[in-house]
Amino acid sequence: MNSQWSQIVKEIKEIYKNKDFVPLHEPTFSETDIEYVTDCIRSGWVSSVGKYVDDFEKKLAEYTGVKRVVAVVNGTAALHIALKVAGVQANDEVFMPALTFVATANAATYLQAIPHFVDVSEETLGLDPVKLENYIQEIGEMRNGQLVNKKTNRVIRAVVPMHTFGHPVDLDPLIELCSKYHLILVEDAAESLGSFYKGKHTGGFGVASALSFNGNKIMTTGGGGAILTNNEKLADYAKHITTTAKVPHRWEYVHDEAGYNYRMPNINAALGCAQLEKLDSFIASKRQLTNRYKKLFEQVESLKVFSEPIFAKSNFWLQTLIIERKKYNRDEILEMLNNNGIMARPIWKPLDQLVSYADCPKSDLTTTNKINNIIINLPSSPPIGGTSS
Ligand SMILES: *Cc1c(COP(=O)(O)O)cnc(C)c1O
Repeated sequence: MNSQWSQIVKEIKEIYKNKDFVPLHEPTFSETDIEYVTDCIRSGWVSSVGKYVDDFEKKLAEYTGVKRVVAVVNGTAALHIALKVAGVQANDEVFMPALTFVATANAATYLQAIPHFVDVSEETLGLDPVKLENYIQEIGEMRNGQLVNKKTNRVIRAVVPMHTFGHPVDLDPLIELCSKYHLILVEDAAESLGSFYKGKHTGGFGVASALSFNGNKIMTTGGGGAILTNNEKLADYAKHITTTAKVPHRWEYVHDEAGYNYRMPNINAALGCAQLEKLDSFIASKRQLTNRYKKLFEQVESLKVFSEPIFAKSNFWLQTLIIERKKYNRDEILEMLNNNGIMARPIWKPLDQLVSYADCPKSDLTTTNKINNIIINLPSSPPIGGTSS
């Protein structure tokens, strides 16, 4: 390790108060988290009913500016139900980036829909609208008002952009594509709570969208997720089928379809209410962290800290280092940082390379494959006011 890298290791450790091991992302807790969860336990209402779920849903709606929020057990379940209520059906194809967490594809698969992988842009790390339109013109055809994949004869029903590491994709051209080709927009906003596109919160553009509150996300409910929608009817339906499709009655067990037990338990929502109060401070702290990383890597030739696109205000959930030229090898940097107690990670393997999705339709994935080898995520927990003491 040369002296430049010794200095980098030393400074990253300093940011995290010289802990032996610096994790990629850990949750930040304080007294209010303990207070709300304790209050929930004392009330006896820890499970499927209670005031914290209603409260959490209301406060999230206020924060995001989206009309309705339905809290569920995790982000994958949220995505599953968002796709379902938005209208994705068995045998439909669903456009999504190849560069995303596997849950995006899994959620479509639960509905017997088929993921259709498309390429991303270097500017946003998310779906590339220009490449997508060219690709649609190459393989698609409008039949009876629906976009059909000429090669498979299946309807392409929806597009699922994902806001990678919290950085919003360029939504306007995607929204235009959706209206031109009659596609349903569903945002995988699992990573982008607190991120805004042209002043409006991500997840508020899709017919329905999904958030995640897993332990490694910007704020946590232990495990949890939420469906966002501006459509009251879809929200009511999402609430209904995530509550085992039970028809309200004082004592009868009547369920009017095969629903899901996907409700968020009250105890998780209690933690969510406390975390949400601190979300803006987590984001402020992450923006400071980005600036520190920028300074740190300023002098290092051909390494760049990824920043938000001009149209976006990002939550900077995961800090991202881009290797701009071949001077460095990704795995050598990963090895060096991890050997020194700094948890750094590559981005996900493109989904078309996983055995379960190897047979799915896909476009040219040149940028996906390029980006895949030049991204490193650095420790990203909010260092200020966190548990990192
Ligand atoms: C975390 C995540 C999910 C799934 O959320 P869980 O709560 O872990 O089920 C979905 N999509 C993306 C892009 C994610 O990062």
